Amino acid sequence: MKDPAPELVIPAPGPVTLPVAGATARFPVHRVYCVGRNYAAHAVEMGHDPDRDPPFFFQKNPSNLASDGADFPYPPMTGDVHHEIELMVALGAGGSDIPVERARDCVWGYGVGIDMTRRDLQAEAKKLGRPWESAKAFEHSAPCGPIIPAAEIGHPDEGAIWLKVDGAMRQEGDLAQLIWKVPEVIAELSRLFELRAGDIIMTGTPAGVGPVQRGEVLEGNIDGVGTLTTRVV
Ligand code: MN
Repeated sequence: MKDPAPELVIPAPGPVTLPVAGATARFPVHRVYCVGRNYAAHAVEMGHDPDRDPPFFFQKNPSNLASDGADFPYPPMTGDVHHEIELMVALGAGGSDIPVERARDCVWGYGVGIDMTRRDLQAEAKKLGRPWESAKAFEHSAPCGPIIPAAEIGHPDEGAIWLKVDGAMRQEGDLAQLIWKVPEVIAELSRLFELRAGDIIMTGTPAGVGPVQRGEVLEGNIDGVGTLTTRVV
């Protein structure tokens, strides 16, 4: 018999869910993992060697996710918020020590996301050897498009990924340029964490990151995966 729901001393925070393309049912989010520096040209623009160093990870909070079409409120305590367009991977299964060859079996779908970053706070954190949360895990810091099932589109390993600001191209790359491919990212993450259905992985951004200003409209696209629009307010 199932235990009755416990009485709560304060209201429970609601579940975080993302829309699924072409469906009414939604994708429930467990954790949000992000990969740092996963396109060579972006590593170079950030002042790093584009070598195939082991991938590194940070997290955002599920409640930081924001919907496609929603406004992006310019966050406090910063004067330099950057856009990072990224392929999002949505897991339908998880585990630990997942072999690369079986990693794709864990993927439920894909989406377009933006890893909004307080670049000034990130630069300070890097300089001082401090954690990145204040740069990465703030409110509305991950605008997300709908999740499209892998059952519909397969597993994209190439295709244009771009972001325009007020119609002008700012970031342009191709999924084929990922240094660590999606199965490798899943395998590596699963050595560090127990992955679960509902986990989202943001896989890194191509070159061309830059600051956003209030009033600008950001438009993201990944060929075969989807689109995303948000306005900075
Ligand atoms: Mn990023």
